[in-house]
Amino acid sequence: MSAIVADGLFALHGDEPRLIGTRCTACDTVYFPQAPSCRNPDCREKTIERAVLPTRGILVSYTVQRYQPPSLFRIDDWQPYAIGLVDLGDGLEVMGMLSGFALDGIAIRTPVRLVAEPLYADAERGLVLTYKFAPEIEP
Ligand SMILES: [Zn+2]
Repeated sequence: MSAIVADGLFALHGDEPRLIGTRCTACDTVYFPQAPSCRNPDCREKTIERAVLPTRGILVSYTVQRYQPPSLFRIDDWQPYAIGLVDLGDGLEVMGMLSGFALDGIAIRTPVRLVAEPLYADAERGLVLTYKFAPEIEP
């Protein structure tokens, strides 16, 4: 049994995660996580629809989290990890934890792909998964 960390954040197709965002049908702006309405001030229609985002992108920035976050952020077997900003194309940038990188060997412009990995085990929900970005080619 497994569950995803937040409803509507991503969906699983087998083992493959797909990020779920929203797209404005008028101005084509894409939002992730899902937005209830278009935030483009120049957009008049603001009608949104569900959008499945690309699963591959380019790492454009990152930071390494070396201190354990407050207990609100739940994670088993905590150890320092990296958070990256990934360009998924069309100006869409998404933040997510990085997986499969050496923390001292992360390179900007690395091609990455979306993966789903366990975040913690929950008595009621089972293994709770989150999405992460891993190198397209394992180091
Ligand atoms: Zn719009």
